Amino acid sequence: MSETIITRCEAKGLRMTEQRRIVARVIGAADDHPDVEELYARAAAIDPRISLATVYRTVKLFEEAGILEKLEFGDGRARYEDADRDHHDHLIDVNSGQVIEFIDPDIEELQERIAQRLGYRLIGHRLELLGVPLKKA
Ligand SMILES: [Zn+2]
Repeated sequence: MSETIITRCEAKGLRMTEQRRIVARVIGAADDHPDVEELYARAAAIDPRISLATVYRTVKLFEEAGILEKLEFGDGRARYEDADRDHHDHLIDVNSGQVIEFIDPDIEELQERIAQRLGYRLIGHRLELLGVPLKKA
């Protein structure tokens, strides 16, 4: 996984310094949706010399290169995930901040139909559901 991010970065012509490689490794290993501070904490655990500013710049660079996808969950903190992951949507528990991934064929199809009706071919979408847990009886 981390290799694929590094390989993709190199394919885009990004110069991969040691610190950028560490950030790429951390992103490749993540199966959640870390923000920059969290990515920094994980990167610094591998190499304490890495700075928050470096992680910020690297994340921005990867995002601009289409390696990373930026997610906004309505709390003002941008999260990131590998842009190459299989498509899925997110439900955000606004109480705990927990992010639940899901995919629903009906939603996928509905969006295709809406785009078509409006005269477009769909090439992607973002869907974020915000919720609070149901009270259990
Ligand atoms: Zn996700």
